[in-house]
Amino acid sequence: MRVVFHEAFHGSDYSPDPYDNAAEPGRLVGIMETLRKEGRYPVETPSPASRADLLLGHSEEHVAAVEAQPRLYAMASLAAGGALLAADLAMRGEPAFACVRPPGHHASRASAWGHCTFSNVALALLKLRASGAIRSAFVVDFDQHTGDGTMDALRGWPEAQVLNPYGDNAADYLRNLEERLAQAPEADILAVSAGFDAYIHDLGRKLGTADYFAIGRLLQGYAIRLRHQRRFAVLEGGYFIPDLGRNVLAFCRGFE
Ligand SMILES: [Zn+2]
Repeated sequence: MRVVFHEAFHGSDYSPDPYDNAAEPGRLVGIMETLRKEGRYPVETPSPASRADLLLGHSEEHVAAVEAQPRLYAMASLAAGGALLAADLAMRGEPAFACVRPPGHHASRASAWGHCTFSNVALALLKLRASGAIRSAFVVDFDQHTGDGTMDALRGWPEAQVLNPYGDNAADYLRNLEERLAQAPEADILAVSAGFDAYIHDLGRKLGTADYFAIGRLLQGYAIRLRHQRRFAVLEGGYFIPDLGRNVLAFCRGFE
């Protein structure tokens, strides 16, 4: 298991939105401290996604609109690059978690909202497909919010499916995920939009730290069923900063 991270992600002045919770100063500090203290996950440093990579999932107009905001473009293209690197690691047989911001699952082909800019997970999959490395993909998005952007960016690719689990409480949620993974199709890679805002002290008020381990373990089980075991995850939401580190670590321990 590898962690993908760049020190630039600690920067919090990239967002033009003063109410951008994903850009909160210090939001990623606890995550990286906790993962480094665990001592078992080497950290790999990404490069920014190229403009050509971004155009695999976005319109020229959307990319140009972000380019007009240089700080946002620098951060968002690096976040997309983090997802690309995590997907490459997965293809080489190494599970990976990309600790990046801005998140991506509300970024559609031609627009973005909800603290997102570029569709990180979708871009990583589209790049693998463009290179001929994969023909199908399965995405699981366990953020509190539906991955509308990921679904939009992947539309027109029927062999790429997105699963957003649901449930009113943790037990129902885990049961729903387990049942739907049991029916999930064969896929050449598993990609995970890892949002932590369904946490008991966050927006969703539903999942506990142990539930993130359980989610990771269910996803690992699906990847093992696929035999090739290719899997990577990319950070999406998660705004209760004091417990983000332990929740991400719990997920990684299950997913690794
Ligand atoms: Zn969310």
